[in-house]
Amino acid sequence: MLIPHDTRIALDTVVDLVNTAPDGGRGDGLGDVAALYAFVRSHDVSGVGELGEPDLRAVRDVRNRFADVFAATDARAAAELINELVASAGTTPQLTDHDGYDWHVHYFAPGASVADHLAADCGMALAFIVVAGEQDRLRRCEAPDCGRAFVDLSRNRSRRYCDSRTCGNRLHVAAYRARRKEAAAG
Ligand SMILES: [Zn+2]
Ligand SMILES: [Zn+2]
Repeated sequence: MLIPHDTRIALDTVVDLVNTAPDGGRGDGLGDVAALYAFVRSHDVSGVGELGEPDLRAVRDVRNRFADVFAATDARAAAELINELVASAGTTPQLTDHDGYDWHVHYFAPGASVADHLAADCGMALAFIVVAGEQDRLRRCEAPDCGRAFVDLSRNRSRRYCDSRTCGNRLHVAAYRARRKEAAAG
């Protein structure tokens, strides 16, 4: 699957955004406005002005809606959620080559809030995945107690666990122990 560079960046952003949600032992990665500033800086979200509590609330709301997209069981369900998200954000597709990046399309409207910016551009990146017939690549980690979102870009779409080392390793170890136990019992 060929994914344009900017779509890839937007996919990374939406995965990281969904994974800031508090869950079990994990606190809220967007706990305050400072955390929101850090998030937009580290993801190179362009054109973001001053942020406040309303932005934080709006971004958390968008985050929940993106989480629903990752939970969607089929392309139709995902498409409906993405359509709603993108429609509520409003879009003004615009070709740009700012800051040394090659030509790419911004979908957010000029002067959009950071929440609308994320909803429009990350929503369109997810739309691209659905159009490519790849909605089932939007996954949740299957490791117990994890459930983090990720996009499976592996060739044979076989990835079951998120990037975090603990998930991969922990499961390797569990599988190894299970095999040993079986061997010992047999
Ligand atoms: Zn850009
Ligand atoms: Zn995981």
